[in-house]
Amino acid sequence: MTDLRHTAALLFALALAACSGEDNPGKHRPADAASDAPMTVFTGGVIYTGLDDAPTAEAVAVADGIILGVGTRALIEDSAGDNATIIDLDGAAMYPGFTDAHAHFLGIGMRELTLNLEAVGSIDELVAVLAETIQNTEQGETVYGRGWIETGWPEARMPTRDDLDPASPDNPVILRRADDHALVVNSAALEAAGINDATPDPDGGRIERDETGRATGMLIDNAQNLVVALIKAPGEKTKRQAYATASNIYAAYGWTGLHNMSVAPANTETIAALSEDGVVDIRVYNSIDQSGLNALVANGPQASKNGRILTRAVKLYMDGALGSRGALLSAPYSDRPKTSGLALMHHEEALDLFNRALVGGVQVNTHAIGDEANALLLDWYAEAFAANPDAADLRWRIEHAQILHTEDIKRFADLSVIASMQPSHAIGDLYFAPDRLGPNRLDGAYAWRSLIDAGVIIAAGSDAPVERGDPLIEFYAAVARRGLDGTQTEDWRPGEAVTRQEALKMFTLWPAYAAFQEQSLGTIEPGKRADFTVFSKDIMTVPEAQILTAKPVMTVVDGEIVYRAEK
Ligand SMILES: [Zn+2]
Repeated sequence: MTDLRHTAALLFALALAACSGEDNPGKHRPADAASDAPMTVFTGGVIYTGLDDAPTAEAVAVADGIILGVGTRALIEDSAGDNATIIDLDGAAMYPGFTDAHAHFLGIGMRELTLNLEAVGSIDELVAVLAETIQNTEQGETVYGRGWIETGWPEARMPTRDDLDPASPDNPVILRRADDHALVVNSAALEAAGINDATPDPDGGRIERDETGRATGMLIDNAQNLVVALIKAPGEKTKRQAYATASNIYAAYGWTGLHNMSVAPANTETIAALSEDGVVDIRVYNSIDQSGLNALVANGPQASKNGRILTRAVKLYMDGALGSRGALLSAPYSDRPKTSGLALMHHEEALDLFNRALVGGVQVNTHAIGDEANALLLDWYAEAFAANPDAADLRWRIEHAQILHTEDIKRFADLSVIASMQPSHAIGDLYFAPDRLGPNRLDGAYAWRSLIDAGVIIAAGSDAPVERGDPLIEFYAAVARRGLDGTQTEDWRPGEAVTRQEALKMFTLWPAYAAFQEQSLGTIEPGKRADFTVFSKDIMTVPEAQILTAKPVMTVVDGEIVYRAEK
C-alpha cells in the first residue's frame, strides 16, 4: 500500500504540476482545472486502472474532464479539498472507459427504428412476423427488416422466397441476415429489381440458386446491391434520431466510445454536430467508406471541436462472412465443396487504395474473415509498406481476422498490423464453423491467445448491430470462450481464451491505441481524459458465469456522467 500511496502522491503532484504549465492550448485547459474548476472524486468501489504496475486504486480525482489523481481514498480526498464533489460508487467496480472497436453506429440506432428480427426463432416465426407486418403496410411499399439468423432454427436452413411469398405475394420484402452479408427477398422483390434465373452473379456476390438453377431469394454479399434501391434510405431526420438512440443505448450498456465502421463520409458531419449539441455523448472514431478516401487524404484527420468525434480511417472489404459462405477460403467450404467464398477486392485496386492511403496518412481498416482473405491482405499490406518505406506507421488494421492460417499469425506482429476482433462472433459462429470449415481449419480461428502471444494488439468490439453490442457479453466471450449457456467443446479451442487483464486491455487501452488515442484514453491515470465504465460487479474476479449478471451502473465521458442506472 505504501508503494501505491507513494506512486499516487507522485502522480498527483506531477499531474498538478503539468496542468499549471502554459503549453496546454485548447478550450479545456487543465491549468484552469487545477486552479478553479470544481473537483470530482469517484470512490467507494474497486477501481481498475488498466495499469500493470498499479492495477487497482480506491479513488480518482477529476476536474474539467481530466484525471488529476489516482490513489487511496484518504490521499485523493485530502488532496482534492473540501469543495470536491464525491461520487459514491456504492460498491460497484470502475474501469477505464470501455470502447467498442468495431460497430456500426447508424445501424445500432436503425435497429430500433426498423422491423427487428433478432428474436425470431424459426422460419415459421419469420413468416408469421412478416404476415403481421404486411397488415400495416401500404400496397406496393417495400417491407424491410433485419437481424434474423438461422443458427438454432428447427428448420436448419436459410429461408427462401417460397417461404415469404404466401405472406406477401405483392409487396416487395427484403429481410437482412444479422451479419449484413446476406438477405432473403420474396418473388415480388426479385421482380421489382429485375432479377431472374438468368441474371449473372455480380462480382463479389452470389444469387443463390437451387439444383434446377432457380433463384432461391437469398442474395449474398454484393448481390445484395441488386435490391437495395428498393429500401427507403433514411432521411436526415431519421438519421439524427438513429444516432441519438444509438448513443443512449451504448452509454446505457457502459460503452464510453465506439469505432464506427463503413461510415458514409457525409454522416461524419452529422455525428460531429450532434456531439457538439450534446445529443451524442459517447466518443466516435469514424472509419469512412471508400468513397471518402480522396477527401480524407486531401483534408487530413478531422476532429470535432469538443474532441469526441475523430475521423482518420477508411474501411475496405476483402471478402464476405462465414455464415453465408462469403468468407474467402483457401480451400472449399467443407459443407459446400463447390464454393470457396467471395473476393470483394482485387489486387490492383487494393494496392492503388493502399498506396494513396499510406501517402495520405490514412489508417486502413480492411474486413477479412476467411483464411485466404487474411493471407492475401497481409501480402498486399506488406507490398504497400515495402513500396512506401518512408511512410509512418499508420496502425493499419484487419477487421475480424477470424480464420487464419496459423503461420500467418506471426505476420500480424511482423507487419505491426492490429487485429480488430469481436469475441461474440466466436461464441456465435462456433455453432456452425465446424460444419463450414471442418475440424482442421479451426486451429487459427478466432485465435486471440495465439495472436496476443505473438505480440499482436487486439482491438476488440462487438460488430453491433450484427451482434447485440453488450460489453459484458463481449468480455465474457473473450475470457470464457463459451456460449452464453456455458457450452464449450474441443472445436471451440478453449486454449484461445484470454485472461481478464488481457480482455480489459482489449476493450480499453488497445482500442485507444488502434485509434491513435492511447495518450489520452484507455487507462485511468493522471493527465488522461476521465472516461470510466462502472459495472455492478467486479468482472475481474467474480466467477466466469457471473460476468453476464453484472449490470452497467454508470458511464462517464470527459468526467461527465452520461448514463446512470436508476437505483
Ligand atoms: Zn462490421
